[in-house]
Amino acid sequence: MKFKELAEYYERLEGTSKRLELIDILSKLFKESDAGEIGRICYLIQGRVAPFYEPTEIGMSENLVAIALARAFDSTKEEVIRSYRHLGNMGLAALDLANKKKIRGENLSVSEVFDRLHSIAETSGEGSVDRKLTTLADLLNDLDPVSVKHVANIPIGTLRLGIGDPTVLDALSIAKIGDKSLRPILEDAYNKTSDLGFTAETFYKKGERGIREIKLIVGKPIRPALAERLPSAEEAVKRLGDKFAAEPKFDGFRVQIHKNGDEVHLFSRNLEDMTHAFPDIVRAAKEELNMESAIIEGEAIAYNPVTSEFLPFQETSKRRRKHEVEEMAKKLPLVVFVFDLLYLNGKDITELPYLKRRKHLEKIIHRENLIIRKAEERIMTSSKEILEFFNEAVSEGLEGLMLKKLDSAYKAGGRGFHWIKFKRSQSGELTDTVDCVLLGVFRGRGKRTEFGVGGLLVGVYDEKKDEFVTISRVGTGLTDEEFRTVNKLAEKSRVSHKPARVNSKIEPTFWVEPKEVLEIYADEITKSPIHTAGEENGIGYALRFPRLVKFRGADKRAEDATTVSEIKKLYKQQYKKKNS
Ligand code: ATP
Repeated sequence: MKFKELAEYYERLEGTSKRLELIDILSKLFKESDAGEIGRICYLIQGRVAPFYEPTEIGMSENLVAIALARAFDSTKEEVIRSYRHLGNMGLAALDLANKKKIRGENLSVSEVFDRLHSIAETSGEGSVDRKLTTLADLLNDLDPVSVKHVANIPIGTLRLGIGDPTVLDALSIAKIGDKSLRPILEDAYNKTSDLGFTAETFYKKGERGIREIKLIVGKPIRPALAERLPSAEEAVKRLGDKFAAEPKFDGFRVQIHKNGDEVHLFSRNLEDMTHAFPDIVRAAKEELNMESAIIEGEAIAYNPVTSEFLPFQETSKRRRKHEVEEMAKKLPLVVFVFDLLYLNGKDITELPYLKRRKHLEKIIHRENLIIRKAEERIMTSSKEILEFFNEAVSEGLEGLMLKKLDSAYKAGGRGFHWIKFKRSQSGELTDTVDCVLLGVFRGRGKRTEFGVGGLLVGVYDEKKDEFVTISRVGTGLTDEEFRTVNKLAEKSRVSHKPARVNSKIEPTFWVEPKEVLEIYADEITKSPIHTAGEENGIGYALRFPRLVKFRGADKRAEDATTVSEIKKLYKQQYKKKNS
C-alpha cells in the first residue's frame, strides 16, 4: 500500500470519534493491507513504529521537528513555530507549508515510510540529532501534503486518532471474515504478547490456526492476570472451593521478570520496559534464579533491611525513575516477592494449575532472603483462616491478602475469580478503591486559583464501547502539593477539544488527553443523571464523597482504569455488604 492511501485513511479516522465508524474505516483499511505490511500499519495507526512496550520512541522535540519542516520546505524554524502556535497542531502547520510549496511527493510505500521513521528511532550516539533531522527532513520532502500532515505528528507523539486496542482487534476480525467472531482468539494472542503488530501479522500469514498457536515469548510482556473483589471472606470461600491459597498483598509495583540465559528484561504492570530503572533486580535475576529461561511475576516493594519493615507505596514509587538509578538502588533497596511462574525452560506453563506453577517457582529460587523472595503462601480452607491472616498482614503494614484458586490456569489480560483481592480499604461500604482516568479540569476559585486547578472531572473505562465515561467530580481530599501535581500533569496533556473516545455531559474548563490514572476512595456508588458511566435511560453511576488516594503514575494506562462492568459489580456488592 502507498503511504498516501494510508494518509487518506488517517483523514477519515480523524474525522470521527464514533466507535462503530472507526471500526468500519479500519476494517476497510485492513482489507486492503497485505501480510507484509499489516504489522507496520497496526503500529502506525497508533502513532508508533514499534509495539507499545518497546522503548523505541522517535523522541524528537517540537523544536527539532520544526527545524526538519523548515529544511524540507524552505522555511525558518521561527516561522514554523509561529504557525504551529497559531494552528495548535504540528501536522496542520506542516500541511500549510507543504501546500504552499505545492509538493506532490514520491508516492512512497507504507513500508518505506515506516522503515525511515524506524531508522530515526534507532539513531543514537554522537551526531545523532543532526542525522535524525536530516532523515526526517528528507522523508517529509518525499511525501504529499496530507501524508506530511500526519507524519509530522508522529515524532512528537501527537498523532492521536483515539484508536484503542480492542477497536483494532475487532477491525482485524471483520477485515478477514466479515464479523467480529475472531476477536476473542485475537485478543488471547494479544494478551500473551502485548504486540498488536505481531498478532496481526501472524493472523495474516498463518490464519486462525496460527493465532491459536501463539505462546508466550520471552521478551514480550504478558498482559497481567487481574483479581476480582468480593464483599466478604465467606463469599470468597464459596468461590474458591474447599482448599485455596492465601498470600500477603504487597503494596508496591508489579514486575514481570523475563530471563533467557544472561539476558534479563523487566516489565511494569503497564507493560513498559523498566529494565534500566532497576539494576538491582536485574542483577538479582541473574544471580538468584536457578534455571535457563523463565517469566516470573512478583511485586517489588521498598524494604528497610535493618528494621525488616516494608515502606509505604509513596517511598517505593520513588524508584520509578530514569536517572541516578544506581544511587537510588542503594538508598531505597527493593525486594521482589514473586508469586507466579508463567514460562520455564522454553515452555509456556500458563495452562498448568496454579499449585503446580507455584511448586516450579519454589524450585528455581534456590537462596532464601535475598532480593528475590517467595511471597509467603498459606493453604487454607475457611473464612476464619482468611480473617486471621488478613489481620496479621494488615498489622505488618501490608495492603491485605490475595486469595488464589489452586487448580486454575493463568488468565493473561483478564480479571477473574481465580484471584480474589482482599484489601484494607474494604472496611468501608465499597469493596475497593476505584481507579479513575483524569478527563478534565475545572478552574479553581479562592485559594485554589493559586494551583490552577479547582476540581477534576474523572471517568472510568467502558470496555465494551472502548471509551471513557465520566463518574465524578473530585475537589476535596487533595493536599496543596497534590493540587500542584495535578496542575502540572493536566497542563502537560491539555487539549483544545473533547478528545476522541470521551463521552461526557459535563463540560470542564479544559479537557485533557485520557492518560493519567488516579486512585479514588469513595463512600459509595450512587446513581446519577449527570454522569455517563454505565448510563441507561439517562441515568449513570457516580462516586459519593470521592477523595484522592494516590496518583498511579506510569503504573496504569488509561484503559487499565476501573471498567464500567466493575463499577456495576461494586454497586451491587455494597448492598450485600450493608445487609451482611
Ligand atoms: P489491578 O487488579 O487492576 O492490578 P490494582 O493495580 O489497583 O488493580 P489491586 O487490584 O488492588 O491492584 O491488586 C492487584 C495487584 O496486587 C496486582 O496487580 C499486583 O501488583 C499486586 N499484588 C501484591 N501482592 C500480590 C500477590 N501476592 N499476588 C498477586 N498480586 C499481588
